[in-house]
Amino acid sequence: MTLLSVQHLGKSFGGVAAARDVSFTLERGEMLAIIGPNGAGKSTVFNMVGGQLRPDRGAVMLDGQNITAASPQKRFRLGVGRTFQVAQTFLSMSVAENVQMALISHRRESEALWAPARDRYREEAVTLLAQVGMAEIADRPCSALAYGDVKRVELAVALAGKPKLLLMDEPTAGMAARERADLMDLTASVADAAGIGVLFTEHDMDVVFGHAERVIVLVRGQIVATGSPEDIRRNPDVRRAYLGDAHALERPKGLNPA
Ligand code: ADP
Ligand code: MG
Repeated sequence: MTLLSVQHLGKSFGGVAAARDVSFTLERGEMLAIIGPNGAGKSTVFNMVGGQLRPDRGAVMLDGQNITAASPQKRFRLGVGRTFQVAQTFLSMSVAENVQMALISHRRESEALWAPARDRYREEAVTLLAQVGMAEIADRPCSALAYGDVKRVELAVALAGKPKLLLMDEPTAGMAARERADLMDLTASVADAAGIGVLFTEHDMDVVFGHAERVIVLVRGQIVATGSPEDIRRNPDVRRAYLGDAHALERPKGLNPA
């Protein structure tokens, strides 16, 4: 069954139609990118899927279940995860503790405070950290990590919720080109192994075209194109939408200066 089905979503803020009749589907294990100029409505769509925003019209279906009216917490329990920045207050905790906290909050178990459970969560946390290549530095405080490594911790924290669907709204913001590609490589391999569907947005077109299996182009709240990275690169409507930044679509992969 289709993992995510977004149907005719509409959302306006005052006079601004941030999303207009937005419909798409996402399958298990698929990497789907939403691209579009600033203000196109990408975050609005993410927030309607994640439950932070209620659409004016349309529906969000997860595994065939209508979740349009469900709270973000309910969606989280149903398997909708998203990456969040590691909050300032958690930077003093170790890498492993951050993931343990996420595991505990996902299960909402009070027994988590008992010593044996603590050990169990620790083992699970280290297993998750191994998936993102961070097991060796599990005991380092997050504050001592390089920025790219903090992003990996954020991914491990998101995976602790055992998502079926992972929402990543500009996960690589502030990262260098090389690190962006690395983080998305990692995301793709983890998602593929666990059958997680990933909906992401990203400014770097090399990263989008190199990692998405399918791309949706949003302009002024409307989908103007959907297709494979190759289709999208060649699509004249997309070129028009990015007129001011036409080079973004033309740079051959791998030649992007850092
Ligand atoms: P993107 O993520 O593609 O840059 P957004 O979804 O953030 O675009 O914004 C789409 C449009 O909706 C923009 O015109 C933005 O100013 C407007 N918008 C988004 N969120 C709000 C809000 N909470 N209140 C008012 N206007 C908003
Ligand atoms: Mg945005």
